[in-house]
Amino acid sequence: MADKRDYYEVLGVDKSADDATLKKAYRKLAKKYHPDVNPGDKEAEAKFKEATEAYTILSDPEKRKQYDQFGHAAFENGGGGAGGGFGGFDFNGADMGDIFGDIFGDLFGGGSRSRRANNGPMKGANLRARVNITFEEAVFGCEKELEIVLKDECTTCHGTGAKPGTSPTTCPKCNGEGQVVYTQQSMFGMVRNVQTCPDCHGTGKIIKDKCSACRGTGYTSSRKKIQVSVPAGIDNGQSIRIREKGEPGTNGGPRGDLLVEVNVARHPIFQRQDMNIFSTAPLTYAQAALGGTVRINTVDGDVEYEVKPGTQTDTRIRLKGKGVPSLRNKNVRGDHYVTFVVQVPTNLNEEAKEALRKFDEACGNRPKESSEGTEKSEKKKKSFMDKLKETFED
Ligand SMILES: [Zn+2]
Ligand SMILES: [Zn+2]
Repeated sequence: MADKRDYYEVLGVDKSADDATLKKAYRKLAKKYHPDVNPGDKEAEAKFKEATEAYTILSDPEKRKQYDQFGHAAFENGGGGAGGGFGGFDFNGADMGDIFGDIFGDLFGGGSRSRRANNGPMKGANLRARVNITFEEAVFGCEKELEIVLKDECTTCHGTGAKPGTSPTTCPKCNGEGQVVYTQQSMFGMVRNVQTCPDCHGTGKIIKDKCSACRGTGYTSSRKKIQVSVPAGIDNGQSIRIREKGEPGTNGGPRGDLLVEVNVARHPIFQRQDMNIFSTAPLTYAQAALGGTVRINTVDGDVEYEVKPGTQTDTRIRLKGKGVPSLRNKNVRGDHYVTFVVQVPTNLNEEAKEALRKFDEACGNRPKESSEGTEKSEKKKKSFMDKLKETFED
C-alpha cells in the first residue's frame, strides 16, 4: 500500500506517546468504528482495521522499535500469513486475541467490572428529553411542562420480576455470572469475546413465573408531568439536568437524571452569538443623510436611537446591555449590535423623483440636462462602443 498512513497519525498520537495514551486513542477509535457498531459500513470497517493494525504494531515494543526505524517497510516482506489482506501485515490470531480480550473485554461486553458491581447500589441510567422554546424564552428563561414516561419499581414483586411467592433462579447458561465468554472466528483470526448472557440479559437470573403486574420486568411505567425551569440565557443545544428523574437505580441506588435538551427556535429578526444579539435596521436616505430618531426592535421592546447625520450603510452600533443574560448571573447581559442598512427607494413617484434630481443638482453631482440630453449621451456612448467593436473586428 503506497498511500498507507503513518501509524501515529492513524491513532492521532504523538511519536512519544506512552502505552496508556496509545491504548486510550485506540479504544476511542475502536469504539467509534467497530463493525458491531457500524454493521455493513465499509468505510468504518476499513478505519477500524487501520486503527487496529496501528495499535497492534505500536503496542508491541519490539515492533514499535522496528516501525520507528524503518516505517511501514519493516513489515512489508514478512507478511502473507493467514491474516493477510493488510498490505503484507500479518494479523496473527494469538496477538489479536490478547488485544481483544484486553481492549474489548470491558468495552463492549459490559465488562466484568460493572457486572461484579451488580450487588451494590447502582445509580439508574439517565433519561433524555427535548423541549422547544422561543428565542425570547431562551433569553429571559421560562417554565415548561414536559410529559415523560418514568419507570418505577414494580410494587407487586418489588422489582424482582417474579410472581409473588416465587423467586428467580440462577441462570444455567452463565451460572449467574451475567456474561458468557466464547471464541469466534473473525476477520482478524480467533477472537475471544465477552458478551452479556443472551438468556438472562446480564441479570444472572431466570424468572420462571413472571409477575403479572410488570410482565417480569420488575418495573412499571407511567406518564408523568415534569416542571422544567429553563434558566435565562440558555442557548440552543444546551441541556438542563433534573436530578433523579431518570431510570430507577438498582439495589437501593438513586435514580438517574433527566437531561432536557433545549431546542431554541430561530427568530425572524434577531440572531444570537453567545451573549450578544445581532440584527439589522433599515434607514431611509433622508434619515441616513440628515440623522434623526429611529425605532429599533430589541428583546426588551422598541428603543429610540438617535442616528447621526451622514450615517453610512453597514454602520454598526451597539446597544449596551440589550443582549442575552449570563447563565450564571442574569443581571449581567450581553449587547445588541444593530447594523444600519440604507434603503434605496424603488417606487418613486414623479414628485419624489423631481425632488431627488433637485437634491443631486444641489449637491453638484449632476450636470443640468433634460431627459432628451440623457438620451443623446446614451446614443453617443453606443456609437462609440460600435466603433470600438468595428476596430477590433477589422
Ligand atoms: Zn412485578
Ligand atoms: Zn445468564
